[in-house]
Amino acid sequence: MRGMVWFRRDLRLYDQPALTAACQECDEVLPLFVFDEPLLRSREFGSACVNFMLGCLQELSASLAGRGLALQWRLGEPVEAVLQAARESKVDVVYWNRDYEPAAIERDRRVQLALAELGIHTRTFKDHVVFEAEEIRGATGDPLQRYSAYRARWWAKWQASKPSPLVSPKPKASTAVLSRSAPRALPSPVELGYERVALWLNPGERQAQMRLQEFLGKSVHTYGDGRNRPGVDGSSRLSPHFRFGTLSVRTAVHEALAALAKGGRVSRADVLIWIDELVWREFFQQVLSAFPRVVKGPFRDAAVPPVRTAGPKRDRLFQAWCQGKTGFPIVDAGMRQLHQTGWMHNRVRMIVASFLIKDLRLDWQSGERYFMQHLLDADVAANNGNWQWCAATGADAMRGYRIFNPALQSKKFDPDGDYIRAYVPELANVPGKRIHEPHLMTPGEQVRAGCRIGVEYPSPLVDHAQARREYQDLGKHKVTT
Ligand SMILES: Cc1cc2nc3c(=O)[nH]c(=O)nc-3n(C[C@H](O)[C@H](O)[C@H](O)COP(=O)(O)OP(=O)(O)OC[C@H]3O[C@@H](n4cnc5c(N)ncnc54)[C@H](O)[C@@H]3O)c2cc1C
Repeated sequence: MRGMVWFRRDLRLYDQPALTAACQECDEVLPLFVFDEPLLRSREFGSACVNFMLGCLQELSASLAGRGLALQWRLGEPVEAVLQAARESKVDVVYWNRDYEPAAIERDRRVQLALAELGIHTRTFKDHVVFEAEEIRGATGDPLQRYSAYRARWWAKWQASKPSPLVSPKPKASTAVLSRSAPRALPSPVELGYERVALWLNPGERQAQMRLQEFLGKSVHTYGDGRNRPGVDGSSRLSPHFRFGTLSVRTAVHEALAALAKGGRVSRADVLIWIDELVWREFFQQVLSAFPRVVKGPFRDAAVPPVRTAGPKRDRLFQAWCQGKTGFPIVDAGMRQLHQTGWMHNRVRMIVASFLIKDLRLDWQSGERYFMQHLLDADVAANNGNWQWCAATGADAMRGYRIFNPALQSKKFDPDGDYIRAYVPELANVPGKRIHEPHLMTPGEQVRAGCRIGVEYPSPLVDHAQARREYQDLGKHKVTT
């Protein structure tokens, strides 16, 4: 039997269900990747993300070649491209791992129907999550809308089933028939219409494994506290790897629990808090899967204050936020980290999102879109879920009308201003007592710090206390900080 494995967001060999099944069931295996031309043209993602994906594909192609498998790629409309590849290669079955984004579900449905018309079978697998939406339900069989209830069921299911990772597949000897021709060189970012950019995080399966081991050997045992401190290497920074499937989430949970079992310095509470973040990831995946309407609008019609009306003022505020020129150091550091690295610390993502929505009163969808265009880990489920959480419209959203105070947040989580100084060089010489609110510097302090407010660094775009009051009045709700 001849099988084709359609790689999508699962760019690895280890614990890869579709590839493993194809190698077990087929005499000949043909790996395929399709560059989705309409999606690339839509500019939903940015250059960093595309460069990272290409880096992952380079390594995947080399790893497959090492096993006698040549990765084919096509550029085009995915339904047509898969159909054409399957037809030309005369395959009997096409294998893939499932994706839960509404557009992907629709695409896969169309591919499945078209292949069936040609008499080609399809086999699909769970991969992107430990448990799919249907596997974790409430007592009534409905999807769960509260994270705490979801988490309890997730852990109960894990204890009951402990799904094991799969070992790297070994294709049968005859697969070599298909790999005599060397894999075609992958396109460059420029050929795909994107800029070539230096990557802050190394792509590929090997790097993902190394980073996981590094994290589990060190930062995980202070994760509970370290994850909130943007100035330290306190979280795993594995999100782009989970996004592109260079690391399997099953493997990550098993390895984290194994690190716990080994004892030593690893703290039980910290490891479990980290796994809970992976459960948040699955929670948002199931929200998207069960309620695909969230991509089009709020999950719930919360009584949130109206957004600012369209016009030059709105555009000016949005541009200042995008460029990291709001005059709020922690917000500006976050946005500039995003531009420089394609990643932003989670605590700071929450601060910049709260600032956009509540201080500037702009629509959360603009922020959601901007993040998708700049993040290496840009993921519809996690991004939409978190933006809706911050906007208080999500399935399990931020409590009431809580508004982050940017200065208090940075005093608490970046007390010495290390993170701010790393990304906002204008503030490098500002003394520690002023780093969170540089506009409070006296003229003399400004001169000594080489940072004149309104010249080298902007004055605050809004008065936080006033913006907070306005948001409160407009929402006519109690605000908690
Ligand atoms: C406004 C906003 C937008 C976001 N957009 C994205 C996005 O597009 N893609 C994305 O992967 N994450 C997103 N997140 C979630 C979170 O910020 C990142 O997953 C996290 O910062 C990644 O860093 P890490 O790998 O070091 O995470 P760790 O702290 O090491 O956590 C481990 C893994 O758990 C998952 N995770 C952690 N926190 C969350 C969370 N709040 N929601 C969902 N999954 C989580 C990630 O896969 C992460 O790699 C967003 C958060 C906010 C507030």
